[in-house]
Amino acid sequence: MTRIKSLRQTMLVGFLLVAGIISLVAYYAISNMVGEQSRLQQQAMSPVFALIDQELMKPMYVGMALAKAGVFKPYLEQSEPDKTALLAYLQELQKEFGFGFFVASEKSGFHMESDGTDRPLLENSTEWYFELREKKMDFRAALGKTNDVHLFMDFRQLNEQGEFLGFVGVSKSLRDFLEVFSVYKQKHGYDFLFVNTNNEILLTSDPRVAPTGSAVTSLADLDWYPEWQQVSRQINSQSNLITRDGRDLLITEMPVNALNWRLFLISPLEARKQAITQTFIGNLVLMIASFLLLYFLVSRVSGHFQSTVSRRVNTDPLTGLSNRLHVEDRFQALLEARTPMSLILADIDHFKSVNDQYGHNVGDKVIRKVADLLVEGVRKVDTVGRWGGEEFIILLPDESLDSAVQVAERIRESIAAYDFRSDDWQLNISISLGVTRASQYESLADLIHAADKALYRAKNEGRNRVVASTE
Ligand code: GH3
Ligand code: MG
Ligand code: MG
Repeated sequence: MTRIKSLRQTMLVGFLLVAGIISLVAYYAISNMVGEQSRLQQQAMSPVFALIDQELMKPMYVGMALAKAGVFKPYLEQSEPDKTALLAYLQELQKEFGFGFFVASEKSGFHMESDGTDRPLLENSTEWYFELREKKMDFRAALGKTNDVHLFMDFRQLNEQGEFLGFVGVSKSLRDFLEVFSVYKQKHGYDFLFVNTNNEILLTSDPRVAPTGSAVTSLADLDWYPEWQQVSRQINSQSNLITRDGRDLLITEMPVNALNWRLFLISPLEARKQAITQTFIGNLVLMIASFLLLYFLVSRVSGHFQSTVSRRVNTDPLTGLSNRLHVEDRFQALLEARTPMSLILADIDHFKSVNDQYGHNVGDKVIRKVADLLVEGVRKVDTVGRWGGEEFIILLPDESLDSAVQVAERIRESIAAYDFRSDDWQLNISISLGVTRASQYESLADLIHAADKALYRAKNEGRNRVVASTE
């Protein structure tokens, strides 16, 4: 009863252990994957912010600061400013900041850039100026220059009285952007698009849809856009997965409020998947290793229980020999393997008188010693069992009747010769043995019946002898 209880307890502990390990490994795997996913996400996003800051915000704030400080006002307020000094100033700024500067003067009607451009403001050649002037916007970021497309950030300039003086601002060549973008694209593996409120693509890392002097591509013309728009409307998310030509694209939209633009990041998922797969494989290996360890532990424990239980079930507690159950199993196994065998049945002579004279304890000691001598007298492959009180059975696979008789005779002699004694008793013990041979399809009961008959004859013929079955 207590044994069963402790087995149950051990199983419970085992199950708790298994459940605990599985939960722990699963938790570890999931948190690892989430961590990896977030790391990749962050790794992908932070350079974009750096890019926007460095390439767009910095020029914008520099332009804004110059406009607010009114550094060009002295030139804009004169009808005939010193253009040489103005150009030198613009060039100095360009050298300092690494991008272009320009001034467009309402009063003197010219447009001057730090690259040396100096042209008159005319309705048919500098349309942007007149358009912007009418729109009454304080700031605008737009593309300009047809031969070498630039991004211009225009700031409106007014004098103290609020009268319009013209525009000042900064410019960056799209070629410069493309260079920076391609480095980002190579390093981080994604494309990006900046679009204005009209969905026109102004800046992009994809040269195929980059604006040229004569045309800009609309976001709506991109093959993924309709699907992306539909999905993002459905699930109201800024970040959505689109499948294009069998590839998964993760497309994220972000507002660039300062410019009144939107940014789209397009990242193919292969690289991410690869990184996540690596994490997954790492976790899988860990998981398999823990399961193997667990399996090893469980099989050790169950193996231990199995051998303990089977030993208890199959063993006679007094002698340590096989019990009836095990002898029957062994016989069945030999029969099924069609192994020829002989069988010996042995019984201690006049055992009752041992018990009567010296008591049950001495009787038990004699039984144990006889059992030892029986085991010593046979081969390892033979099975020695306790069949009843002081009756023993021996199965001898691949042994002929004659050689089984010889074995029986040797055992008989060894027991008869053995000096059974202790401090206060000394006994001469002998056994009688009946031997028989199993033909292939005989049952154990039939064999024992035959051996028993032989044993009976041995007893009748005076005991301490071996008789072979004649059946
Ligand atoms: P024989 O076989 O030579 O005809 O005579 P016997 O005295 O041995 O007769 P029998 O086989 O009938 O007696 C067996 C006795 O063995 C009966 C029983 O008291 C005793 N016995 C049976 N099992 C045990 C046991 O486990 N321990 C002890 N001490 N005695 C046992
Ligand atoms: Mg008996
Ligand atoms: Mg007996």
